[in-house]
Amino acid sequence: MLTVITGGMFAEKSTELLRRGRRLKRAGKKVGYFKPAFDSRYSEHEIVTHDGAKVEAFIIKTNAPIQITSREYFNNFDVFLIDEVQFFDSTITLAVQTLLEAGKEVIVAGLDMDYKAQPFFVTAGLMSIAEDVVKLKAVCAECKSDAWVSFKAENGKRLQLGTNEYTPLCRKCFNIRRRAIEDEVF
Ligand SMILES: [Zn+2]
Repeated sequence: MLTVITGGMFAEKSTELLRRGRRLKRAGKKVGYFKPAFDSRYSEHEIVTHDGAKVEAFIIKTNAPIQITSREYFNNFDVFLIDEVQFFDSTITLAVQTLLEAGKEVIVAGLDMDYKAQPFFVTAGLMSIAEDVVKLKAVCAECKSDAWVSFKAENGKRLQLGTNEYTPLCRKCFNIRRRAIEDEVF
């Protein structure tokens, strides 16, 4: 079974990934955590959530996700939990399918869209083959409704609408910001 946990930043995707992992471990499953090599946001060999929870994770090269199916992992785990899945190249789908065909359970977490609201096709592809897709939502920083995307004002723009930090926004507030930037540029 494949489950995809997706949504924008601050939607607590990693928190949900860890929660599910803990639960399956309690159920007696052998659980392994994985993350891409260049996500060194918090810690190199750990998945760390925004609220500070952490768990040991194996580091997988972004251009060689098939490593996940190597014998050292394959023989040791029933459940494969993969964080920041959007950073892997498209062969992650093949790696996940190999695990699924062998009867492993796979749970991935990753962004659905970039800061311009363009889809991450790696996540989209996994969403289409998943049994279950969970879209989590942060709170819109402007109007406090459900966020839809993680907005970031680009470097070098004359209009400084916020900073380079990501901001969770609903679609309506995102469109307002984007129009403001377009008006400034053109
Ligand atoms: Zn809003």
